[in-house]
Amino acid sequence: MSKITIIGSANVDLIMHVPCLPQIGESVAGDLFQQVIGGKGANTAVAAVRAGGSVSFLGCVGDDAFGIAIKTALLEEKMEDSCVQVIPETISGTALIMFDQNGDNYITVATGANSSLTPAYIDAHREYIANAEWLLLQMEIPPAANRRACEIASECGTRILLNYAPANSNFKLGPEISILVVNETEAEALSGIKCDSINTAAAAGSAMQNQGPETVIVTLGATGSVVSSSQGMFHAPAFAVEAVDTTAAGDTFCGTLGVALADQLPLKEAVQFASAAAALSVTRVGAQPSIPRRTEIEGLMCR
Ligand code: ADP
Repeated sequence: MSKITIIGSANVDLIMHVPCLPQIGESVAGDLFQQVIGGKGANTAVAAVRAGGSVSFLGCVGDDAFGIAIKTALLEEKMEDSCVQVIPETISGTALIMFDQNGDNYITVATGANSSLTPAYIDAHREYIANAEWLLLQMEIPPAANRRACEIASECGTRILLNYAPANSNFKLGPEISILVVNETEAEALSGIKCDSINTAAAAGSAMQNQGPETVIVTLGATGSVVSSSQGMFHAPAFAVEAVDTTAAGDTFCGTLGVALADQLPLKEAVQFASAAAALSVTRVGAQPSIPRRTEIEGLMCR
């Protein structure tokens, strides 16, 4: 069994590159179109595998061509175990992404089969959580499924890393969460504090610690991340890179952070490892194609 179990969404991302994002009612000619595998759960799992983690993934896809593409892509990543259930008469999760030359984007997501990930499905795969050291969750599946996964993890002593993305007020935080990762938007949704600096992110971090999580990490894009733990607060700067597309930066950060923590790295080093991986991911286009391998991450850290 793997050290890390990831439960979450798997999507097909349909990406159009445009010279500028269209106004309402405007048609803009695209420069390039790509179809790649995405979804926060699958991205996080791929990031963890490529960083050298021992990983299992649980998810759902539809009985369509996208579902086959997702399953095939995940199989190629050589996870310890991947349990992707095909839901009859359902579409696979699909994201429509448009981004311009500045890296700004529009993203819309049809959840499709991801919403079939139920508490009953989690119960049926309880051993995936029970036998893992870390459970990595995100918020693109029903909150009730995440809640059930947290309950099982608590019962079994499995540590939880929650990426609260996208923010969903139907899911309440609690002390069973070891590490909470949020970006500026999610931090503001949870704490009510606008995170436009390291100081405000630190204030939001302690406000979120009061809601239960032991450690809170607020990611701030090119400004890096701010970590609030029982040991105090520190700022982890981002690695200097040329950003092309920030899709999946947060997913890469969380998957690789999980690997570093499962490898027993101290928190500061684990965050540095995750920051290097996430920095590499923003230098390339797309979700999964942009996710780096361990050798590249170590290369950037040694530079
Ligand atoms: P999300 O994708 O969830 O919005 P962020 O954009 O905050 O997350 O990025 C997560 C992490 O990825 C950051 O804390 C940072 O380490 C890294 N990162 C993001 N953007 C850049 C960038 N332009 N340059 C270097 N690292 C970046």
